[in-house]
Amino acid sequence: MEKENGGFFNPTIKKFWNCLYQEAVDLKQCEKYIVDAIALVSDEFGLIKVEMELTIPPNRYQLHGEQRSVMLAAKEGFGESTDFLFAFTTGGNVVFHVVWDEEQTDYGRDELEILLRDVFFWYDRNMRQNFLEQILNTDMETGAANPYAFTGFAGMLMARGILERYCVVFFNIHNFKYVNKVFSYAEGDQILRQYTSQIQALLQEEENLARLGGDNFVALVRTENTDAFIRELQEMKVFFSNKLKSQTFIFGATIGVSRLEKVLTVREVMSRASIAYQEARSCGVGGVVWYSDQIYQEMMERQNVISNFASIMEQGGFVVYYQPKVDSRTDRICGAEALVRWVQDGKLVPPVKFIPQLEQEGSICRLDYYVLEQVCRLIKSREERGEENVCISVNFSRKHLEEVDFVEHVIRVIDHFGISHHYIEVELTESEDFQQYGIMSGIVEGFKKYGIHTAIDDFGTGFSSLNMLKKVDLDIVKIDKSFIPLEEEYAGKDKDMMMLWSIVELLHQLGKEMVAEGVETKQQLDYLEKVGCHIIQGYVFDKPLPQKDFEERLLRQYQ
Ligand code: C2E
Ligand code: CA
Ligand code: CA
Repeated sequence: MEKENGGFFNPTIKKFWNCLYQEAVDLKQCEKYIVDAIALVSDEFGLIKVEMELTIPPNRYQLHGEQRSVMLAAKEGFGESTDFLFAFTTGGNVVFHVVWDEEQTDYGRDELEILLRDVFFWYDRNMRQNFLEQILNTDMETGAANPYAFTGFAGMLMARGILERYCVVFFNIHNFKYVNKVFSYAEGDQILRQYTSQIQALLQEEENLARLGGDNFVALVRTENTDAFIRELQEMKVFFSNKLKSQTFIFGATIGVSRLEKVLTVREVMSRASIAYQEARSCGVGGVVWYSDQIYQEMMERQNVISNFASIMEQGGFVVYYQPKVDSRTDRICGAEALVRWVQDGKLVPPVKFIPQLEQEGSICRLDYYVLEQVCRLIKSREERGEENVCISVNFSRKHLEEVDFVEHVIRVIDHFGISHHYIEVELTESEDFQQYGIMSGIVEGFKKYGIHTAIDDFGTGFSSLNMLKKVDLDIVKIDKSFIPLEEEYAGKDKDMMMLWSIVELLHQLGKEMVAEGVETKQQLDYLEKVGCHIIQGYVFDKPLPQKDFEERLLRQYQ
């Protein structure tokens, strides 16, 4: 080993500090360097165990300070022995605890202490301070700022009176959870780190990115840079490779943005971003929504749906619309889907604006049973009047998978009205959780026994729809509108047609019935005709209709 600056020089240790201060992002990597460094010297020094204890003094983010211990090295086979333990400090906030075997080394205790000090502390006090600040302000997994540091940064901009020149951008990576399912967690972490450092590279000076946990991030970006920043977020290519595989991911994001003019508190910075983000989420994944006072008002009103759920139900505030399914070979209605709406102050609120809230909170299950009751009531009354009925499908949230008696509950409701089971169809949505295929399969088999057909909704938008088809024996597949080519002439149309054709072909071979959803144009009808998919639900025939209009529509058909 060579000496440098009168101190102990070790290339690995040097690499550690270089990494910490120059790249200064990846603390896990740093920890690995220091562990490697100790491993290098531990035989020579007879080291058995080295632990670093950091005391972070009380500060404005952590009022009581914090203590962290990091195990830097531990030799196997020495158990919990603390025989030769000694501790030393540099007078700063770091204490090293060392377990050491005298017999294994020529160095004496005092000598060893001096050498170890050299190993760890040839950096100056200033650097040590930086190190602590790094730990305090950094999200350990990604190297982005943590929320404490982020709010501190916003506060600093505010104090300097320049916050109004910034926008806050709140975003969630689209479909990142699937990466964790398909890759190991360690690989997922690596991909997330790569993603984060690419986003950091987009930032200009005095802009900031923090991770809020999971795959949620928030950034403060100068207003003039915001549009470009958002464009990048919408299509971020991340290249991942290790010994076994390499892959390029293209991640999109759901994004909420707010300008920060007239914002007076850091709290408001965060709440604006989160309101815009929630709005973006309710409009579907991959959207961008800018905060406005109107959005804020609407969101406050929607919060009502949760707190007033029971009274809205009681007062008949939820109504059921019916969208016909038409057989394009005969142009006749062969079924319908029940779709719920909330009538608020005489205005119709569409389900995307309140179902996510009810789903989160759990009331969605009650609402679904309520819709089922309304559907059964309609069928019963038509039957009593001697009118023809068609099969009506009812949406059931994936929340029902958690109920122990879901199938029996549905049957109880239908039997209560005494209508034939084949007038009701159950629409299920693919669960994001692979492990729930078992549960889903049990439910589908349960309904089968009672003569009720089940459909999978939004086929093709999930991650593993094909997998599910194999594992769960559903009767009907609703092909999502994103699979149905829209225009006559556009690049890639042939590929889209091919894809649609393959899906339909596969479903035919598996003996599934299918419904094409969201069909809007005559052109799309022609495509579907060509590939052999004939049951159509979409604006090309009908929009979702109030019950009265739906019944009139049926009446016209049977006249
Ligand atoms: P979904 O089950 O996929 O329902 C189809 C949606 O597509 C409906 O939106 C319908 O109005 C819309 N749609 C139909 N034809 C077309 C078309 O040609 N073009 C376009 N662009 N859209 C079309 P809606 O009624 O707003 O419902 C949205 C979602 O809310 C539903 O999607 C479903 O997931 C959920 N939902 C609705 N009612 C219920 C319910 O009673 N219970 C549960 N759990 N979810 C429901
Ligand atoms: Ca549906
Ligand atoms: Ca659907």
